[in-house]
Parts: sequence; C-alpha cells; structure tokens
Amino acid sequence: KCTRSGKARLATTLLNVAECLIVTFCNFTNNFIKEILPMKWTQTLIPTLKESPSEAEIDSHKLMIRAGLIRRITAGAYAYLPLGTLVLNKVINIVREEMNRAGAIEVFLPALQPLHLLEESGRLAVFGEDLITFKDRHGKISALGPTHEEIITDIVRNEVNSYRQLPMTFYQIQTKFRDETRPRFGVMRSKEFIMKDAYSFDADYEGLNKSYQLMYDAYCRLFTRCGLKYIIVEADSGAMGGDVSHEFMVPSPVGEDVLILCPKCGYSANRERAEAAPVPAENQATLLPMKEVATPGKHTILEVGGFLKVSPSLMVKTMIYVANGQPIAVLLRGDHEVNETKLGKLLGQKDVTLADHKAIEQVTGAPVGFAGPMGLKIKIIADQAVSVLRNFVAGANKADMHTLNVNPERDFKIDQVANLRFVAQGDRCTNCNHELEISQGIEIGHVFKLGTKYSDALKAVYLDANGKSTSMIMGCYGIGVNRIIASLIEKSHDENGIIWPLSITPYHVAVIPINMNDAAIVQAANQIYADIMGVSGIDVLMDDRDHRPGVKFKDADLIGVPIKIIIGKKFVETKEVEIKLRKSGESFLARLEDVKAKVKSLVETLS
Ligand code: ATP
Ligand code: MG
Repeated sequence: KCTRSGKARLATTLLNVAECLIVTFCNFTNNFIKEILPMKWTQTLIPTLKESPSEAEIDSHKLMIRAGLIRRITAGAYAYLPLGTLVLNKVINIVREEMNRAGAIEVFLPALQPLHLLEESGRLAVFGEDLITFKDRHGKISALGPTHEEIITDIVRNEVNSYRQLPMTFYQIQTKFRDETRPRFGVMRSKEFIMKDAYSFDADYEGLNKSYQLMYDAYCRLFTRCGLKYIIVEADSGAMGGDVSHEFMVPSPVGEDVLILCPKCGYSANRERAEAAPVPAENQATLLPMKEVATPGKHTILEVGGFLKVSPSLMVKTMIYVANGQPIAVLLRGDHEVNETKLGKLLGQKDVTLADHKAIEQVTGAPVGFAGPMGLKIKIIADQAVSVLRNFVAGANKADMHTLNVNPERDFKIDQVANLRFVAQGDRCTNCNHELEISQGIEIGHVFKLGTKYSDALKAVYLDANGKSTSMIMGCYGIGVNRIIASLIEKSHDENGIIWPLSITPYHVAVIPINMNDAAIVQAANQIYADIMGVSGIDVLMDDRDHRPGVKFKDADLIGVPIKIIIGKKFVETKEVEIKLRKSGESFLARLEDVKAKVKSLVETLS
C-alpha cells in the first residue's frame, strides 16, 4: 500500500513536471512565433518595381508583379514571394474555416493520377490536350490532376458502403494542373493553380439538395469575407436533363466569361445557359414573291449582307449538322449564333458536329456558303427568331446565288421550332421582358449537382436501408484560390497600387520612420512596432529601409497596406505621429501612447 502511494506521488510529481515543461515550451514557441511573424522590410523580400512588366496585360497582373507578390517562372507557372504567400495563406484560412463550418471534411489527395480512373469515367477524352501527362521510368503514363472527381469517387467506392455513412462532403486545397490553351493574366489563368475542390456524396436527391445548399451558402460567406463583390449566375451543368449548377462571378471587363443579366428582376445566367423571351411575330408583313439574285463569291452573312445591302437580322443562315449519323438543317437569323449546348440537349446528344463540305454539298446540291432551307429533304429545325421572320434572305442552294423574300410555311416547312441561340444584344428577359444586359465576369467558383455521373461510371454504390445497392448522388464544388486574389486586386486598386481589405491583407499596418538616421524617430518607430506586434490579429510591417520618405510612401501604397503610421517631422516637433488610411486617404494625428488603441479601433471599424 505504502509503496503504491509512493509510486502514485512520484507519478503525480512527474506529471506536474511534464506539464510545466510543456507549458514553458508552448510559451516559448508562442513568443517565438510572435517574434518572427511581424516583419521588418529589410529582413524579408518585397521586390517592388516602378515599371509595369511588359508581359502583363491587366491591372491585377501588373500589380501582383510590381508589388512583389509573384514572379513568373515559366508560362503559366508563378512563384509566390513572401508577400504573396501571406495573402494566399489568409485566403486559404478563410476558405478552410468556411468549409469546416459547412461540415465538409478535409482530405489531401495526390496530384499524381493514374490514367485508368480517367478512362473509367470517360474523361480522358474530355480533357484531351488539357491533361498534363508524363511517362515514368517504368514506361507507365500518369497525369497531373486537373481536378479530382475520379480520385475521391474511387476512395469512397472502396471505403463507404452503407447509407448509414452518408451524407459526406470532402474537400481539399491543392494544386491542379491544366495545359490551358492560353494561359494568361498571371495567376488568373495559369497551368498550375490552387483549387479548393469539394465533393458531396448523398443517398438521395433530397440529400444532394441540402449538401449543395450548404456549399452554396459557404461560398457566399467566404467570398464576402475575402472582400469580393460577386454575382451568382445559373450555369449549364453539361449533363443532360438540366441538372442545377451555379457559377460565382466577379463582374469585370477582363473576365473571360459572358454573363446575361436582367437589371430589373435580377435574372442572371451564363452565356451557355441564358434564355431570352421569344421574339414577337410581325403579323402585318405582306409576303413578297421570292426572287433569286446572283451573289458571286459571297459566302458569309457579312459578305452577302454587304453586297445586297440587307441587315444580317433579315437574313437566315442554314447550317447542316450531323446528329445520330443523319444530317439535319439548323436555321438561325444572320445576326444570331447557335448555342451547341442547347442544340445537343434538343437532339439528346452530348456533342453535335457540323457536317463536312462533302455532306453539305450532297444535302444542298450547292457549294458551301449557299445553303438555304428551300427544297431540302432533311429535318429542319429553326430557332424561334427565324420562325417569326418574314421576307428574309437565304441561300438558294445554287452556286453564287441567294434568294430574297423567303418565308416559312409558304416556301419551306419547319419541322421543329426551338430556342437554339445565344442571347444577343436587344433580347428581353423571360421573367419581366426588360432588355437583358450582356457583360463579362471572372469565374471564381462553381457549384455543380452531378447526380450519378461519376458514381455510375465508377460504380460507387451503397446499400440502402433495405439492403439494395444504389448509386451515390454526388455534387462537386470548386473555387479558384489564386483567382480570388487576382480578381480582388482587379476590383480594388487605384493608380498607386493595391487596396487590400483587412481580411486578406498581408499586413494591416505599415510603420514608416522617415529617417533611419534620427535616433528619436527610430526609437519611436520601434516602440510602435513592438506595441502593435503585441496585439493579436494585427500584422505589422516595419519599413526599416534607409530610403527617402517618398520611396517608402509609394511602396506602402503599392503593396496596399490599409493603415500607415508615419513617424516624421511632426514627431520631432510635437511628439505626434500621423496615421493614414490607404483607401480613403484620411489621416489623423496621435500621440505615441495612443497609437496602439487608435490602430485597434481602426482595424475594428475597417473590418
Ligand atoms: P474556366 O472556364 O475559367 O476555365 P473551369 O470551368 O475550367 O474554369 P472548374 O473546372 O470549374 O473551372 O474549376 C473550378 C475553379 O477553378 C474555377 O471556378 C476557377 O476559379 C478556377 N480555375 C479553373 N481553371 C483555372 C486556371 N487555369 N487558372 C486559375 N484558376 C482556374
Ligand atoms: Mg477551364
């Protein structure tokens, strides 16, 4: 008994000692981390540039290089320097926090992917040349992951088999590789980029709707936290049957996506998906007699329109497509463009292809460029806008000839009328009939109800409550982490540089002593630096370079730090320092001992 209590005492003492050691160690590392997190300019690398690099076309790209955030290593691949890395990590933290809050579970999947999974899903062909592949020393070809649907589905099909384990949403923050045809605009479209990708697995569609909404809401929260003004547009899910998909877009003229927006009712969709109200019929028009005219060597709408002095909106183009091995004619107004996604859905085909020259000549009896709907022996599908057009110009199905005053019903029969075109200028909203706006946006995120596309292909099944084997219902959700940064800068800068929101700024405060050879100024700067360093959640950069004040002010503006504290001439005279805000340009004077409190309250109000 006695020995046992002696042992117990010894054990307790040892535990206490261990605890003390751990606490001491933690304090030490905490202090250590505090010491090294804030920064002096001379101890880090912020290579700012006066001039815009010639390679950069858009403001965000120019500023990311000029402010020393990134450097190009090779086409489509960028290094993040210390300042860029600080921002990247802040964005990643926000993304991670909101994913966790939404109940998603973090994983980390390999960038290296075997081709057989992409073969199983049928996406090897879809990715085509975008996929970056290489042969290893044993001759085996692998890919660098462009996305991870197949990998996560493979894991889930192996590890999850009961409805009791569902729903589950996994996410990762990882590098993706795509051999983009046109990498450009810096990190906006690169070959190597960081994506947050998430995948949900549910037992039924009701579950998918819930998982989708959780991600959708998380996206709203995290983009807002990053300081981005975004809009959400309906997107085409690609899958047949019109599954739901939304894209998160930052409206911007440099965006590569076309958005259709209704300024009145708020309808918004991307170009592939957008619908317009039907073009009203002109019932009054008198049908004029058809007349063939010579149009020698004029093939295109513009050439023929220019030659005949007829506006493209009064002309019809006849396009011969091949669907299920059969040629069909698709009629579109001369000023409209066919939306092949809509055409494919109408025909129940994923890909539709234009007929080749030989097939066109066979069907129309004329060389390419002179096709018209009259006398065709194949199915004719007309866009709605064509169905209401009267007295239009069309090809005459004869070399170098067009026909004037063509009219549907009288001159040829339309087999099917459908909405086949992209929304064009002047089109109206299907909801409220207000004129639609066509603008551009940067896609920063995408949420997608996949259904059973991958679970069917890869046989990811679970046993339901009745023991029946059922395909899992999936969703996928992507965010371009680097694009968040680039699009934020695109929207938030002025002629002097970047303007960071507090949430993702590399530093909240820049302490700027104007003369490193003035002991009083340096001492005050050091004191302010040390004071602010002690405030948790506020990151401070001390510009301790022996540079002229003008250079320091310019650089602080260029790198976009929200709050500058200038220890200058005023300090020598009145012991006051100047606090200046990057965004509004407002400035205040503060006594040394008040600086910390003032900065704290500014950070609070600006956040
Ligand atoms: P895009 O149409 O711009 O090529 P995507 O449809 O191919 O985009 P997804 O496959 O849905 O994009 O990827 C999810 C997110 O990853 C996108 O919303 C975008 O923000 C980002 N992203 C995609 N491609 C790139 C790229 N080449 N460089 C940087 N970010 C990218
Ligand atoms: Mg792409």
